Amino acid sequence: MKYKSTRGSSREVGASEAILRGLAEDGGLYMPERIPRLPADRRDWGDKSYQEIAYEVLRLYLDDYDEEELRACIGAAYDEKFDIEEIVALVKAKEEYFLELFHGSTIAFKDMALSLLPHLLRLAAKKNAVGDEIVILTATSGDTGKAAMSGFADVPGTRIAVFYPKGGVSRIQELQMLTQKGENTHVIGIHGNFDDAQNAVKRIFADEAFAERLSGKGMRLSSANSINIGRLIPQIVYYVYAYAKLAGAGQLEEGEKINVCVPTGNFGNILAAYMAKQMGLPINKLICASNENKVLYDFFREGEYKSRREFVLTTSPSMDILISSNLERLIYLSCGSDAKKTADLMQSLSKEGEYRIDEEMRAYMGDFVGGFASEEECAAQIRRVYEEIGYVIDPHTAVASHVYRQYREKTGDGHKTLIAATASPYKFAETVERAIRGEGACKDEWEAIELLHLDSKTKIPSAIEEIRSAQIRHREESETERIDQALARILKI
Ligand SMILES: *Cc1c(COP(=O)(O)O)cnc(C)c1O
Repeated sequence: MKYKSTRGSSREVGASEAILRGLAEDGGLYMPERIPRLPADRRDWGDKSYQEIAYEVLRLYLDDYDEEELRACIGAAYDEKFDIEEIVALVKAKEEYFLELFHGSTIAFKDMALSLLPHLLRLAAKKNAVGDEIVILTATSGDTGKAAMSGFADVPGTRIAVFYPKGGVSRIQELQMLTQKGENTHVIGIHGNFDDAQNAVKRIFADEAFAERLSGKGMRLSSANSINIGRLIPQIVYYVYAYAKLAGAGQLEEGEKINVCVPTGNFGNILAAYMAKQMGLPINKLICASNENKVLYDFFREGEYKSRREFVLTTSPSMDILISSNLERLIYLSCGSDAKKTADLMQSLSKEGEYRIDEEMRAYMGDFVGGFASEEECAAQIRRVYEEIGYVIDPHTAVASHVYRQYREKTGDGHKTLIAATASPYKFAETVERAIRGEGACKDEWEAIELLHLDSKTKIPSAIEEIRSAQIRHREESETERIDQALARILKI
């Protein structure tokens, strides 16, 4: 399988090189030259473990890793770091199922791919005879940073620097990052929002002089953001797995289509679901749920992407994003893999802050439906689901749950629906308890966690216990414009 840049001017590379590079040299994102089909025997996968299904899916894309290597990576990724043996869980509500993707070590869905990526990347360096130390640069809206550092901490031959918007993440998210151990981990709070952080990181990737300084010191950059194809592909697995489990348990008829509803920020998770559909998984609609930063909702409604608007800080911070990087991959697919056209649209986005797609491209995206939840609707949904079924969801999942309910009421579409539950409610305990018990419910995050423990009747995850007493180890801050200097200082180049 070859991987091509969505902007076309870079040469084609194999899977391991695409993973190693993260971003193509022309600034585009890597895409597989074709989307493979799932084998026909996937109908009998109801009894397979998560790890087995992961192997069946990954081998279709990562064909320059041999069976032994892939199985070793998968085994090392999906192990006791997850607090349930099944790795992900399905919780039935009414016609919808919550697909819990937060059982990994940092209790958000980013663990699903970031537990695997470091293993794939280490092998990729070996395969491509790269002896350099790999420096992972990551912009985070709250969850990626911690999940990536957990994956890369003390991995020989790697270093990782995470940039997060100071004041733009939850207190638990921030503490998780600031207490991260590992001599090779670095955390920098930037004075800006997530888009600023992501743009700054992309600028460093495109900076040839910086790359040369690094290479002089035996280092090279890679990315752990969902622009790396090595993150996107592992995310396809849980959709295939969930479908196999539901079908195996008799919850779905042969070939029955399901909807998928995903709380969306950078468009990685929902794009993975779309790729699963293209591989032959019976998916009907892809419901793209946004919070008040509803640029994607407007895009699917109007065919116009307009990023210049007010940036809203919400209680679902991991979706506070106005430039959804992975949408570029859907754009590319929707214009028949026309890299020139994709590059033009992306240039318009970076210059004018907007672009418009044509009718043909819009028609191609007909399976996507956008929706959004306001802050009030998000809180009301947390409370509603709790009152209806005694189940506690986090604010990101609540945005999706609200959008799904609204979609169902409006359209009457009765397909069973999978809602991606992307974070543990413990990660956002204060928001959740205020929604359930009222504004004055708790005085701080720690009290909220105790209340949540009582209300949800679930065990407090070890990820929360760990940060209670852990020491703050990272204090770096930087202006957005100067993150290259901050990075140079940290790396001593
Ligand atoms: C990252 C994240 C999202 C958004 O996922 P994308 O792949 O960026 O669309 C949603 N919810 C949570 C909890 C996240 O951490």
